[in-house]
Amino acid sequence: MHELTLSALGALLRERRASSEELVRHFLARIAAHDPALNAFITVDGEKALAAAREADARLARGEAGPLTGIPLAHKDLFCAKGWRTTCGSRMLENFISPYDAHVVERFNAAGAVLVGKTNMDEFAMGSSNENSHFGPVRNPWDPARVPGGSSGGSAAAVAARLVPAATGTDTGGSIRQPAAFTGTCGIRPTYGAVSRYGMVAFASSLDQAGAFGKSAEDLALLMNAMAGFDERDSTSVERPPEDYGRELAQPLEGLRVGVPKEYFTDDLAPGVAACVREALAELERQGARLVEVSLPNQALAVPVYYVIAPAEASSNLSRFDGVRYGHRAADYADLNDLYRKSRAEGFGPEVRRRILVGTYVLSHGYYDAYYLQAQKVRRLIARDFAEAFRACDVIAGPVAPSVAFPLGAKTSDPVQMYLEDLYTIPVNLAGLPGLSVPCGFGEQGLSVGLQVIGDYFGEARMLRVAHRYQLATDWHRRAPPGFAS
Ligand code: GLN
Repeated sequence: MHELTLSALGALLRERRASSEELVRHFLARIAAHDPALNAFITVDGEKALAAAREADARLARGEAGPLTGIPLAHKDLFCAKGWRTTCGSRMLENFISPYDAHVVERFNAAGAVLVGKTNMDEFAMGSSNENSHFGPVRNPWDPARVPGGSSGGSAAAVAARLVPAATGTDTGGSIRQPAAFTGTCGIRPTYGAVSRYGMVAFASSLDQAGAFGKSAEDLALLMNAMAGFDERDSTSVERPPEDYGRELAQPLEGLRVGVPKEYFTDDLAPGVAACVREALAELERQGARLVEVSLPNQALAVPVYYVIAPAEASSNLSRFDGVRYGHRAADYADLNDLYRKSRAEGFGPEVRRRILVGTYVLSHGYYDAYYLQAQKVRRLIARDFAEAFRACDVIAGPVAPSVAFPLGAKTSDPVQMYLEDLYTIPVNLAGLPGLSVPCGFGEQGLSVGLQVIGDYFGEARMLRVAHRYQLATDWHRRAPPGFAS
């Protein structure tokens, strides 16, 4: 049952060959059996899940079911879900029970999906390995000595190990695509503004975007159909008519122009990863797509620019966690300043503190022009590079991450090495574009590699078509990590 895609599970439910309650019990049992070795979940609530499953079964019995009704799902633990603990992977929010639902959570609830648990993540979504979680690292189901990627590593590991059929994530600089690549799952980051950020704990608001993990491009289209749409509670939510993200899946690739950025194939890229990506591009070509070389000349500036802008926004967003209005409060303090200082020092982990310091610095008087304003200008140049490239192609394709999943602890002492993980994903966020990752083979140490497909603004349907046509000819996305297949 856990091998099935969302559409297959949906059919099973609608034809009454299984009930939602059975499905939910099956996945809860898998979580109980396997999660202790992976640590993909921060919270699992079987009682709430079973109650929701029974509601879904009633809806199925009435014949009112949609494609996701009755299907178990997990949310990254930065989506507020009413009555659920929402920790953001931080001690700061260790005991925060959300009094309301995020827009994304509302949407999935309305679709009848069954929330079974909240997944582990890097604290406040800052990280590329899931080692920054207050709740301990997540392990990669393909090799438990390795990281699953981050920051949505819990969601990625849970889907890879077949503990849930799908899960949500967020991608501020690569946090859906990179863990998808590291765990052999499919992950999509939509265009900025396509999915409401309402009820998502904010990290860097101009970059944050909710998306999802699943086992196929077709699954991602179903998830997008449920979660995308205008929401007036998010001022950057874009008002557009609803669309069917699966509408292009049946179209062949004949004549499609696939841009391959020359800056994506340099010495930074592990040879095993490059080989898989090149072979995937060749498959697209065999299907009639035309590969065209494009250039993103400011690509190398993306990581430095991101590490000015993202910490700047984070330092502002995280100021609300002061132990008074929100978050952990220190037990002993002398006065108000001491309360702030101690609460924040105790509540935030080292990476979050580092970002707050960097962010406060680049925004401070005298440095704002030199760093923050300059970074904003270069950000514009990076977006312009993509606009230029999309004049010559319909989608862009390349690697997701420079290497395969690395061992736990390998990069924890060197933040810059960790930051460079997002070399190929961050430009997409800076430009506000959509991107996805689908498995395209095994590279170094036999570990999974992702193919990144980048679309123009609101080009998700086309990206999904490329990924789907690729998956019709390959079976990488069906491979389960040994030990989690049955
Ligand atoms: N790894 C990047 C960071 O640490 C991106 C994280 C994300 O996309 N949330 O900021």
